[in-house]
Amino acid sequence: MCGIVGYIGKKEAWPILIKGLERLEYRGYDSAGIALLDKGNFSVYKKKGKVAELSKFIKDKNSNELSGGVGIAHTRWATHGIPSDQNSHPHLSNRGDIVIVHNGIIENYLSIKKVLINKGYKFKSDTDTEVLANLIEDIKKHEKVSIDEAVRLALTEVVGAYAILVLSKDEPETMIIAKMGSPVVIGIGKGKSKSEFFVASDATPIIEHTNKVVYLEDGEIAIINKKNKKLTLKIKSIKNNAIKNPYIHTLKTKIEELEKGGFPHFMLKEIFDQPESLRNTMRGRIVFNKGSIKFGGLEKFEKEIKNLKRLTVTGMGTARFTGLIGEYAFEELSNIPTKVEYGSEFTYRNIADTLNTGLIAISQSGETADTLNAIKKAKKEKMLTLGVVNVIGSSIAREVDAGIYNHVGPETAVASTKASTSQVLLLVMLAIYFGRMRGLSKIKGQEILKEIEKLPVLVEKILKNAKLIEKLAKKYKKYNNFFILGRKYNAGTAMEGSLKMKECSYIHAEGCNSAELKHGPISLIDKNFPSIVIVPMDSMYEKMKSSIQEIKARGGLVIALTTESNKELKNIVDDVIYIPKTLEILIPILAFIPMQLLAYYISVERGNDVDKPRNLAKSVTVE
Ligand code: GLU
Repeated sequence: MCGIVGYIGKKEAWPILIKGLERLEYRGYDSAGIALLDKGNFSVYKKKGKVAELSKFIKDKNSNELSGGVGIAHTRWATHGIPSDQNSHPHLSNRGDIVIVHNGIIENYLSIKKVLINKGYKFKSDTDTEVLANLIEDIKKHEKVSIDEAVRLALTEVVGAYAILVLSKDEPETMIIAKMGSPVVIGIGKGKSKSEFFVASDATPIIEHTNKVVYLEDGEIAIINKKNKKLTLKIKSIKNNAIKNPYIHTLKTKIEELEKGGFPHFMLKEIFDQPESLRNTMRGRIVFNKGSIKFGGLEKFEKEIKNLKRLTVTGMGTARFTGLIGEYAFEELSNIPTKVEYGSEFTYRNIADTLNTGLIAISQSGETADTLNAIKKAKKEKMLTLGVVNVIGSSIAREVDAGIYNHVGPETAVASTKASTSQVLLLVMLAIYFGRMRGLSKIKGQEILKEIEKLPVLVEKILKNAKLIEKLAKKYKKYNNFFILGRKYNAGTAMEGSLKMKECSYIHAEGCNSAELKHGPISLIDKNFPSIVIVPMDSMYEKMKSSIQEIKARGGLVIALTTESNKELKNIVDDVIYIPKTLEILIPILAFIPMQLLAYYISVERGNDVDKPRNLAKSVTVE
């Protein structure tokens, strides 16, 4: 995990770096640090805790100490060594000549550390990163090579994942960037000031300075240094030094999209973004007269898609739960046998038969390591790999054979909201797209598309009643355990609802298929263990009503989430949340929203850090 930022140019580096870290804090917030290089000297400041603490610490400094047009910075999600000042990045090498920030894990760091200790190196931290800093120093000293060559040679000895930024005192106008597995983007200064570069884990810290970026690929090392008074960028292969031609992308994200837009938290803003984000997900893709969908990126693979005999849907966390809803959609509309798997499990088990099997990988960030590894394995098995990804140009988006983007804009709160509803929508749209190639009638396709187009307005309607859910949050905030129950499409909804409660409200919420309740879990029910029952008026309504009766018979509290026309439930349950009527297959998209709001408001009531819940990070780029 972790976020890295770098700047090299004529401006003061530290304000750019601090702001960049704030934008990347969703990637980890165990500690933050910054290193500046000025007149051949490093100043390194690092602190356990969030970027705000580092920022306060730095602002108290004398401005002379802070000058420097070259710097690197880091916000950490610890993998090796506890969150502490010592383990914070940047890490200096023993002689203090080299400084590094790192996102990833050096898997063979212990064996390298042993060799370095035998050579007399001392270590101040428990991190794998400090080992790399010293390995680079050692190679530079013995091979008498430039810093870029020392970094390159060091990386040929390293096993694992990294995005690193390296500075050296000996070459004060040089920054080295390298990538394997973890993401890194290089922004090229615009206009006359082309002679400045911005580097970051993703484009959010860069976009306010320039929209011209280069995404470094796995196995590449970039060298930014001065030639004829101008900074230039060169990219090479780590393996064999071969020169690579950088492809310059033009970014279209607007800076306002990155801000909170007047809401107290990103999570609430992103919940309220959903009418718009759903519109953006479907925009330009619905082909009503054919009862079908247009996914430009998939057209090249139409033949392979037609031949698909099986699908495996993979993701982690929210992405896997939306996959569970997709599973029903693929079996119902596309007639393709489908199963859902954790990316982490798919990677390490035997896959029995992969002929004509497709892998659909879901990831908001497009950087989820467990899912990325599943894709790599599927490619080895010659499976067709398709991605459902939000972040454009992310690792998963580039790794899959073909993909579809959510187009919901940046999602900053750690708990996923607008990306999750968009994922469900895209999976249903994908099921229609596949279905139309294998027997789904045009009329059936049109019937669903008509309802899909109404979704943004229905979501607006739910959001207008947010105050009612805020009231419920006040009533139920004291309970530490919840069941969230649903069936069929809404079994996945229940799992996702429970994840929201866990991650932002710190409530133990168990998402459960309600049919399973009577096979054991029901013994937990008492007056202190409320249940949220997703009971829309669909094909499972009667069965769900029986589950409610079973809970009530045992003294449990019930909040029912049902269709607005339902009059009978309010007399049976303790509280009711209404959602508008839609097709059964689309109900999860509407049912997600009250769950998000409930988790959000309970989290606020409990005084939790809503956007950055404890122990979590937004994109999980480690296994
Ligand atoms: N392995 C490094 C550390 O623990 C970087 C962590 C990461 O990228 O998640 O400090």
